[in-house]
Amino acid sequence: MIKTDTNFNLLNSHITTLIKKDMYLNRIIEKCPNCESKHYIKYGLFKGFQRYKCKECGKTFSKATSSLWSYSKKKPTQWVKFTEYGLERKSLRFCAEKLGLSLVTAFYWRHKVLHGLNYDSVPEKLSGDVHIAKKLIPENFKGSKNITITVRHNIWVVAAKDCEDSIIIKPISRCHWHLPSFNKKIYYLIDEKAYIVPYGDRYISLVAKAHNKKHIKEVKNDKIIWSFQIILEKWLKKYHGVASKYLEKYLALFILYITKKEINCMEIFKKLSFENKFIKILDIGRLKTQSNSVLL
Ligand SMILES: [Zn+2]
Repeated sequence: MIKTDTNFNLLNSHITTLIKKDMYLNRIIEKCPNCESKHYIKYGLFKGFQRYKCKECGKTFSKATSSLWSYSKKKPTQWVKFTEYGLERKSLRFCAEKLGLSLVTAFYWRHKVLHGLNYDSVPEKLSGDVHIAKKLIPENFKGSKNITITVRHNIWVVAAKDCEDSIIIKPISRCHWHLPSFNKKIYYLIDEKAYIVPYGDRYISLVAKAHNKKHIKEVKNDKIIWSFQIILEKWLKKYHGVASKYLEKYLALFILYITKKEINCMEIFKKLSFENKFIKILDIGRLKTQSNSVLL
């Protein structure tokens, strides 16, 4: 007797395998994920994937190693749906309930998605009229254990946008304005011939003055940068506070939100899956120390 696959379980599992194969077919392996050596040889197949063996460290790996697939037993449809919810800014509780995940897993997934987005959030160049504004955001130690700090400083978040709608938003320093950090994170992207339009901050005005070399022209206000402080404040409120160590990653999502770029969740998922934009759970915990050293 033929069994009816009423829940399409069989079909779904086939689709999963097909998507997986399709996605990894063209993935280029450049080095051993364990020791980064470029000396490796083909070493049979593993679950339908070409497997390799490193000649230096002896470890085997495949085209799916160090990607979402190799660590997650969840289905790709769950990931795509999760990315979609993330972009819609649904709460972690909502995502967990809808997709049958634990809250902890939902937390890590959110950070994986944000980490992937962060790679694409830096434009190549800012040119023409470049509008710059800042917002001070009080430090937030949400989720950190054993916090003994009693004084909370402000984090300087700077947004710069040009006439081509290229935009960058980065936390640049803690407590005080820090010019070297501004230069390293924002200013290097600004074209020499660009005209800087500062919005109500004396430090940014000084940067503009030096850059524009006494050249003064009438420029129409940029809607996003003009209301940057208010939009960001409102946007962050929905998360009930974002820990400062993760702020930079959330800002990458904020950029997608304000530029209203068309977002294809499947594309994002693909990027997360195999463009080396994958972050291991272990590294999410390490972000704390990293961001502390970045934020002076
Ligand atoms: Zn190796």
